[in-house]
Amino acid sequence: MDKIASIREDFIQDIKSVNNLRELEAIRLKYIGSKGIVSQLLKEISRVPIEERKKFGATVNELKNFIENTISEKKEILFEKETDERLRKEAIDITLPGRRLPLGSIHPITRTMEEITDIFLRLGYGIEYGPDIELDKYNFELLNIPPLHPARDMQATFYISDELVLRTHTSPVQIRTMLKKAPPIKIISPGTVYRCDSDATHSPMFHQVEGLLVDRDVSFEDLRGTIDLFLKSFFGQNTKTRFRASYFPFTEPSAEVDIECQMCMGKGCNICKNSGFLEVMGCGMVNPYVLKNVNIDPEEFTGFAFGMGVERMAMLKYKIPDLRLFFDNDLRFLGQF
Ligand SMILES: [Zn+2]
Repeated sequence: MDKIASIREDFIQDIKSVNNLRELEAIRLKYIGSKGIVSQLLKEISRVPIEERKKFGATVNELKNFIENTISEKKEILFEKETDERLRKEAIDITLPGRRLPLGSIHPITRTMEEITDIFLRLGYGIEYGPDIELDKYNFELLNIPPLHPARDMQATFYISDELVLRTHTSPVQIRTMLKKAPPIKIISPGTVYRCDSDATHSPMFHQVEGLLVDRDVSFEDLRGTIDLFLKSFFGQNTKTRFRASYFPFTEPSAEVDIECQMCMGKGCNICKNSGFLEVMGCGMVNPYVLKNVNIDPEEFTGFAFGMGVERMAMLKYKIPDLRLFFDNDLRFLGQF
């Protein structure tokens, strides 16, 4: 009986020093596990004199119950304590500002190109694309610019070989389209073009949108109406337009188109060199030689073509002073679009 009392004292001391569930489990095994001290005591019951057996058994069982209850109470306390600690450690500070993901925006050149093409899509034009590496034949010859023609000097060209160039304009898409399809043709072709030029107002790579319409009875007046409507849609309904006679080998007659200066509204400033007008695009009636080159009978069909630089259109519309801003890709600039 003394032994039982001393086990009880030991247990009370042990449980006092328990700090966590793992230590508690060790105590449980030590006393009431299958090989624990109390379990061993119960096995010894047969060696106890018969007259004391009943009292011994009752006392050991009482000790066992006491240990079980104490451990289970302690377990609840420790469990609560550990859960609290874990929740405290894993807590999220919802007052911290979030991490902001930078949002991209459409590049002003892409955006301008989309604005231009959208206007022509609404007028029933289709979109055609062509390769950046182009046959000299399509870039020049079939557009009425034979080798040694002085017009080749108008466009400083990157040659890849005698037959291949980086296209200097999107006009070869007109040739490709007319070669594969009979009139009526009504297309625009946006794309990248290349010329050996680089300074404040020229970039060796830039963008154009070109348009072509070929059908019966197409007149210069149709061209004027189309261009005027386009420029008013793009720059605003009050935009004044002006056509000036010009020269391109692939159109005859040819014209350059001006709009009233957007900076001074026609009053005259240093951007428009006091003329009140700014050149925005070139156009003309498709040269009959070009139609013949792609097996379209110029007696039966006529057409008009026009082309514009996307960078120039963007600079005028958004009042951007320097071409190079488009290619620097400074996020402070791009973020404004
Ligand atoms: Zn002006």
